[in-house]
Amino acid sequence: MAVVGGGIVGLSVAWHLQRYDVEVVVLEQGRIGEGASWGNAGWLTPALARPLPDPHVLRFGLRALLDPASPVYLPPTADPATWRFLLGFARHCTTPAARRAMAALAPLNRQAIAAFDELADVHAVPRTRDAQPFLACFGSTQEAMALVRELQDLEEHGQRPHFDYLTGPQVHAAEPALGAGVAAAVALRGQRYLHPPLFVASLRAAVEEAGGVVREGSTVTGVRRDVAGLRVVTATGEDLRVDAVVLCGGAGSGDLLREHGVRRPVQAGRGYSFSVTGAEVPSGPVYFPVERIACTPLHDPWVTERDEQWRPLPVTPRLRIAGMMEFRPHGAPLDPRRIEAIVAAVRPLLPGVDLDDRQDEWVGSRPCTTDGLPLIGPTRTPGVHVATGHGMWGVVHGPLTGRLLAEQVVTGRASPLLRPFRPTR
Ligand SMILES: Cc1cc2nc3c(=O)[nH]c(=O)nc-3n(C[C@H](O)[C@H](O)[C@H](O)COP(=O)(O)OP(=O)(O)OC[C@H]3O[C@@H](n4cnc5c(N)ncnc54)[C@H](O)[C@@H]3O)c2cc1C
Repeated sequence: MAVVGGGIVGLSVAWHLQRYDVEVVVLEQGRIGEGASWGNAGWLTPALARPLPDPHVLRFGLRALLDPASPVYLPPTADPATWRFLLGFARHCTTPAARRAMAALAPLNRQAIAAFDELADVHAVPRTRDAQPFLACFGSTQEAMALVRELQDLEEHGQRPHFDYLTGPQVHAAEPALGAGVAAAVALRGQRYLHPPLFVASLRAAVEEAGGVVREGSTVTGVRRDVAGLRVVTATGEDLRVDAVVLCGGAGSGDLLREHGVRRPVQAGRGYSFSVTGAEVPSGPVYFPVERIACTPLHDPWVTERDEQWRPLPVTPRLRIAGMMEFRPHGAPLDPRRIEAIVAAVRPLLPGVDLDDRQDEWVGSRPCTTDGLPLIGPTRTPGVHVATGHGMWGVVHGPLTGRLLAEQVVTGRASPLLRPFRPTR
């Protein structure tokens, strides 16, 4: 079988297909894991994994678009496809639609961490880290209460995140690196985080160790069905005969999906990240929800049984800072003004961090859908399946997606959890 796209989703699908003794080839147009799966914040936070379309997000987004320093950016020259996506997105920003989407995601959230442990238990990947705690930081109690209400609402969907409300002095005692303007925090328990490039590199190694073939520089231009079965065609003229294909191209999936009857667009919601050090750096993951900024320490030694293998990766031990939602085409170059906007927002929040010594500046595309739900399952072409559209939460839901979709591809049994994510919905 072929998997198109070597990000966290494609590699998770490949790994789980191998559990059924399936021979797998992963075709990646660039290098493995250099899409959204490289520069993300690495949060494994089921308590925060909500669908993006929501009445609050719409209100915030409309206000933010008018502010050049905001964490959301839509260029005045946006193309018609982007406008169509945004209109479709806005239509899903109602309370009933958001509640339905949350009801669909909550069962994935409840099993997400176990899916990571399943991989770590067999040493396929490093064990993910407990955030002790995961701090969401605010300038006022009122702002913090909005998150508290969201967390309480999760009970309706069977998610019961443990959290404490911290006053200003409590939060500064818990995390001395925070700036004086942080006046309240929500300390979430039971959330985890990982080192994104190391995680993806380890998953790739696990797929190869199990006999999988990984081909980099292999851009899939078409998947065709003829009398003899399925053919995967690449830009370099390769023509592979396969039993089944899983399309996991992230924000670059669009054309391939349309060929197989998947009409729902996958739009790039571009995010930026970079890494820093400094005199005082947070010791655990820190979130600034109002500024939409995520910080994750990548500086601890990630001790694992296979450390030697991962050490040569070009990621320095630093704090990663990520943010921004920019609606420009997937593949457009990095815009330094977006990095500057993140830097300006972070400066007062983390005064001990040296924001002028930045490394690994990066832009990548979250694969976003109008209803905020991923596309997981069969297309209209027999044997052609999809796993993409995970938007803000492809790390949280990647390994579980792999497990559920591999089961469906190999056995034909579709987990009821996947029903809301039918690609042809
Ligand atoms: C700034 C930022 C922070 C984020 N933080 C988090 C977080 O903390 N937690 C979380 O859960 N999620 C987070 N996300 C989202 C997460 O990164 C994505 O949802 C996830 O990485 C998507 O994985 P993927 O495998 O679907 O896509 P990708 O990682 O983009 O992989 C798709 C791969 O397919 C390849 N490809 C595409 N088309 C073709 C083709 N035709 N032929 C061959 N190969 C092809 C691409 O080159 C790419 O490597 C964040 C995203 C961003 C941008």
